[in-house]
Amino acid sequence: MSDLTTLLAHSGDGQAEKINRTYASVPEVLPVYMSSVFAFDDAQSVEDIYTGAEEGYVYSRIRHPNNDAAARVLADIDGAEAGAVFSSGMAAIVTSIISVVGAGDHIVSSPVLYGGVRTYLEKELKRFGVDVTFTDFSDVSNIEKAITPRTKLVYTESVSNPLIAVPDLAAAADIAHRHNALFFVDNTFAPVVAKPISYGADVVLYSATKYLGGHSDLVAGAAVGRADLINEISHQLIIYGSLLGAAESWLLARSLRTLELRVVKQSQNALRMAEFLEKHPAVKKVYYPGLESSSSHSTAERLFRKGIYGGMLSAEVKGGKEATAVIDSLGKGFIKYVPSLAGTSTSVSYPVQTSHRSYSREELDKEGISDGLLRFSAGIEDADDIIAQLDAALRNIS
Ligand SMILES: *Cc1c(COP(=O)(O)O)cnc(C)c1O
Repeated sequence: MSDLTTLLAHSGDGQAEKINRTYASVPEVLPVYMSSVFAFDDAQSVEDIYTGAEEGYVYSRIRHPNNDAAARVLADIDGAEAGAVFSSGMAAIVTSIISVVGAGDHIVSSPVLYGGVRTYLEKELKRFGVDVTFTDFSDVSNIEKAITPRTKLVYTESVSNPLIAVPDLAAAADIAHRHNALFFVDNTFAPVVAKPISYGADVVLYSATKYLGGHSDLVAGAAVGRADLINEISHQLIIYGSLLGAAESWLLARSLRTLELRVVKQSQNALRMAEFLEKHPAVKKVYYPGLESSSSHSTAERLFRKGIYGGMLSAEVKGGKEATAVIDSLGKGFIKYVPSLAGTSTSVSYPVQTSHRSYSREELDKEGISDGLLRFSAGIEDADDIIAQLDAALRNIS
């Protein structure tokens, strides 16, 4: 090739795979495939991929090696048949819901939901002729009462925010299936800890931004479950164009290697924190399913992996100024105010100022979310170090 630009356009291009096939070794981990499209030597190869006669990739909005790798690990975590990986938790959730409902259909949902999902169910779906009934899932007989012949989907989170309540997912799945409805569970707060597929969930949804990513450096989402449903969901994912890109899929797959180690340690730390806070005179009430005092304890004992209850807990201190004083005091140490969760560092969040700031006083009272409620996300630090920081911050208000 005589022209430099022509040479630059083709030198080394697309050769990585051919090199891998001729060398005696391959990369120990899947490299990042930063390629929006795949090249073919002939027309038959394209045909073979479209018909399924050959494995391969065509275009990265549709399927991509790094995205596939992350989806495989995610499905394995939950013992699911298949998985799909999205550009955010919201994308995973709304794409999965819209895949199974249409005009005239009805959804029964817990009202205690991530804000964006609540808005989607309450406002957005209405524009498409889908009705939603919200009912309290702490008593599963409410689900049965809310179901109509039009009900296609029963929807809940496995662990509620910020009161860390655990609905009886097995009973909810049973009710949904008896009425020919699907059961979807947002398990963002409890991967490893809860296995919704084993209780009968058809699809399990995640904001992978939280525990699955686990290092506060990634926005992503996932859906895992029955192969036929994931197939339909993947079809919608392609239409809406929300496949997670190469670099972030790679980062997610890497983070998943340590998921169990992180979640077990975070759960152990959360239990220590909950036990310490429950005994503290400045704390009115602690919400953590690992505590015997929790109204979710027996459900968690039955559903969760033995001995772990997740890394999320909440504690009610005196309200208003005292609560913000605790936050400010914690901020002088390593427990920062982080309006998200599930990183490797222990963090605190203040629901009335962040996740629930649009709620009226009346709605907050109804949900039991007070001005003194602090939500903690346990990190992977040494438990004694975390307790020392909590102790120092609470000393200021007791
Ligand atoms: C964060 C979160 C979401 C939304 O996920 P994004 O990754 O922010 O889009 C959904 N559900 C729960 C329970 C969450 O915590």
